[in-house]
Amino acid sequence: MVMADGSRAFVAERVQLIFSDSWATLPVNVVNAGIVALVHRDVLPLHVPVVWFAFIASVVALRIALYLWYRRVTVTEDNASVWVRHLMVVLALTGLGWGIGGVVMMVLAPPIYQVLIAFVLGGMAAGGMPSLSRIFSAYVVFAIPVLLPAIGYFAVQGTELDLSVATMGMLLLLFLLAMGRRQEANIVDSMWVAKENRSLVQDLRREIAEREQVEARLRRREHTLARAQRIAQMGSWEWNIETGQITSSPENNRLFGRHDDAPPSSLETVLKAVHPDDRRRIEDVKRRAVADGTAYSCDYRILMPDGSERVIFEQADVTCDETGRATLVTGINLDITDRYRAQERLRGAMHEAEAASEAKSQFLANMSHELRTPLNAIIGYSEILKEDALERSATTFIPDLEKINVAGRHLLELINDVLDLSRIEAGRAEVVVESVELAPFMDEVVATVQPLVALNNNRFELDCPADIGEIRTDVTKLRQILFNLLSNAAKFTDKGEIRMQVSRFADDAAAGGVEWVRFVVSDTGIGIAPEDQDSVFLAFERSEARRSSRYDGTGLGLAICRHYCEMMGGVISVESVEGKGSVFTVRLPAEAPDQRPVDVMSAE
Ligand code: ADP
Repeated sequence: MVMADGSRAFVAERVQLIFSDSWATLPVNVVNAGIVALVHRDVLPLHVPVVWFAFIASVVALRIALYLWYRRVTVTEDNASVWVRHLMVVLALTGLGWGIGGVVMMVLAPPIYQVLIAFVLGGMAAGGMPSLSRIFSAYVVFAIPVLLPAIGYFAVQGTELDLSVATMGMLLLLFLLAMGRRQEANIVDSMWVAKENRSLVQDLRREIAEREQVEARLRRREHTLARAQRIAQMGSWEWNIETGQITSSPENNRLFGRHDDAPPSSLETVLKAVHPDDRRRIEDVKRRAVADGTAYSCDYRILMPDGSERVIFEQADVTCDETGRATLVTGINLDITDRYRAQERLRGAMHEAEAASEAKSQFLANMSHELRTPLNAIIGYSEILKEDALERSATTFIPDLEKINVAGRHLLELINDVLDLSRIEAGRAEVVVESVELAPFMDEVVATVQPLVALNNNRFELDCPADIGEIRTDVTKLRQILFNLLSNAAKFTDKGEIRMQVSRFADDAAAGGVEWVRFVVSDTGIGIAPEDQDSVFLAFERSEARRSSRYDGTGLGLAICRHYCEMMGGVISVESVEGKGSVFTVRLPAEAPDQRPVDVMSAE
């Protein structure tokens, strides 16, 4: 099958082979014909060899013309059969020229010449085979006319010798045809193999080119990866559990102070580089990960060959086979020495800051306590002295004694604030929850603050429904918050209006349905600049515009209010328009959580 397909497919190629290889036969034809004609010139009428030679020479000329024409065209699979036909015509003519010419000369010439002719014809038929049998039919149309007439001639002669020669000629012809057939088959076969080899070689070339491209891409990626690892100071590695070998990237080798291209190591070698204090822990982590087939991450110190210490962050993943047995651990190592040291410094600084803050709070608490005792004495004695002065009608001392009293109370207030804040910061402020009926409680608060409110000729209004119910919270702290807000409103409002509104509301059921009590203190005073509104709740912060003004104060009241609100599960906020007034809103749960830890770090 292959041959049939192949012979059709390769016709064009074989035509080309015949044209290119049978050039050599053209001069052979002319020279042989010339010799034969020359030899017969005396034994034959001269015109016979001359005409015969002329015929052979003409056929050769025809073949040359055909060959030249062939060189100008392109032979394809489609037009190859036409060229085969052309070839067959000129070859048949050549064969007939030799065969018929030979017989004519045999008939006319003396017997000895017949041997020469027979020899020449045999030679021609045999000599044409190598080049012409590329297309068997082309060889057939040449070889048969060359030999058959002579064979026929000998056969007709009928003598024993002639019949022998005819038989030998016939055998030669059959042998040549068989050989020609075989040669054609061999040629087609080798063409087929060559064609397959050609496509094999092409495939191979393509594959090699593709592989080279893939390798180049791979090299580029490896290079990029190595660069990225160097920049990130991150190495990667693979631990083959079967062989126990750990293969490292160049950067990983560098991290451990080894050569970039150090040979694969083992778990033992890696552990040797780990700081003795961390070695056991890291070995446990790795062995457990292999046993459980789970990913892990850890930090540890390593000792470099020069004795210095580095800190490594390691993260790895474990690959298991289908039975769940770990086969490969793949990981990365990151040099976190700088980050680790910075964190250590930060931790140290934080501890120091915490200790300093604790010491400060302790100092403030102690100092406040120490100051309060003599201050109470000053306030108490100034009152006694004022009463004495009144009894003895020594009124000239009274204004001074009042000044001592006011200054003493102011100082006591300040110390109390400082003490409260230091308690909060030290985490010692506690929420003591108790129930209180809101309406009478509010009356009591207002009564306490009334004289203060009246001081600047302000009008005061309380809006609190009588049936508002009770609140469960730290009542002392709530009183302190409201007192602070109301005294601020009184302090920063002159001949204005101060309002205190109390209301109750509940969150949506979706939000938990929590019940809240809202206390709103509004005034028509000086207000707070927008840029100061966020900072008024920070300790020692007073709005910039007021610092140098006539209003005294410490800036602690609102900070304490905020802490207390948060401790009781609530929030405090402010809205204010400068020159128009301020609205402070406190929102507390109707039922306070029992104890809320104070976040000292975020307090300031
Ligand atoms: P203090 O009143 O002792 O300065 P606070 O913490 O109570 O401290 O108040 C902080 C600052 O907030 C005040 O100094 C003031 O500038 C501003 N402030 C508070 N309440 C009002 C108010 N009702 N009207 C205007 N400014 C206020």
